[in-house]
Amino acid sequence: MQDQKTPVHQGLDTLCVHGGDALDVRGGMHTPLYNHSTFGFPSTQAVLDVVEGRAEGSLYTRYGLNPTIRATEKKLALLEGGEAALVFSSGMAAEAATFLALCRSGDHIVCIGDVYGGTHELLQSQLPGLGIHTTFLLGKEAGRLPEVITDRTRIVYFETPTNPNMEIIDIAATVAASKARGARVVVDNTFASPVNQLPLQLGADLVVHSATKYLGGHSDLTGGVAIGSQALLAAIWNWRKNLGQMMAPEVAYLLARSVRSLPVRVRQQNASALAIAGFLAQHPRVKQVNYPGLPAFPGHAIARRQMRGFGGMISFVFDGDAAATAAVVDRLELFTIAASLGGVESLVTQPVTTTHHGLTPEERARRGIVEGLVRLSIGLEDADDLIADLKQALRG
Ligand code: PLP
Repeated sequence: MQDQKTPVHQGLDTLCVHGGDALDVRGGMHTPLYNHSTFGFPSTQAVLDVVEGRAEGSLYTRYGLNPTIRATEKKLALLEGGEAALVFSSGMAAEAATFLALCRSGDHIVCIGDVYGGTHELLQSQLPGLGIHTTFLLGKEAGRLPEVITDRTRIVYFETPTNPNMEIIDIAATVAASKARGARVVVDNTFASPVNQLPLQLGADLVVHSATKYLGGHSDLTGGVAIGSQALLAAIWNWRKNLGQMMAPEVAYLLARSVRSLPVRVRQQNASALAIAGFLAQHPRVKQVNYPGLPAFPGHAIARRQMRGFGGMISFVFDGDAAATAAVVDRLELFTIAASLGGVESLVTQPVTTTHHGLTPEERARRGIVEGLVRLSIGLEDADDLIADLKQALRG
């Protein structure tokens, strides 16, 4: 491969296409797929140069010292405006390595707002076994952060927009309150994607993603990434290495391929979601629409400040019980019933039957997960077709 091209233009679209990539020596347009698990050296000195950090060569794929993986990491770091990135076998792998690297027994985490179920389980049920305890605040309780943060709080963690109610957490305000007590801020930017939101620019220390979602964008890969300063990522790198959480080179290649079209996809998803949220807001059988782009949505003012687009995720409350809502979901023809999000195809879930099925009725009520709640992930179909599908399903 030739040397990595230095991007002249710094726009996000340009970085998505060219960032981190190197031309193949045979003229291939992008960094090729190096599937190899290990790499050969011409001399002992050459291997020592890599092992001792004097040269950037390839060594062993589980370490991440593989050209395909490194090129994808450089691209992802550039998109989020971070110094470096580490890719993982899944979003959960990225989160778990982050928590393990930044916390020790006796340390404390604050988690604000609803987070992905796996994250919640890790924080609530598994990390306490290692002596790492988490205080959970609802999104609307974010202002209580200074009361619950302690000298042992290492991480303040949140997603914004949140799942499934699309609450908006004020990134800059949370950063200010956290930094005042020496805690690091980790933002899961999966829902917004770097096209719509750049938490590192607002002072966050780390961004994590389930790359399975918008970054991958086609519902055909599973991966994760953590992005931030070299210094913070160094400790996380070691956990990734020894827990064996590396993303496969094929997946890294596929991920870089997908990221090249990320801005085009996300901007169309933003536009379609805004149109669909507007349609739902006028519908007589819809009691509430949760979409940060709607002026009446409680988080709209903060979203306008910290987001460049409002994303492709919408939730709404149907005026009916669990069975009537399930019937609406079942009548949809273009939306597929599936738990994931961020792909080219539109998906639908009823959180009480899937993502939040395991919660007690009291906990669901506390978190605003009602029976009529439906979550939509807007894909790349024609917005008019998606609206027509919703119209027929709601009419029943
Ligand atoms: N973060 C968010 C916001 C998610 O929605 C998910 C999965 O749905 C994850 C993290 C975990 O990602 P993965 O399934 O790639 O491990």
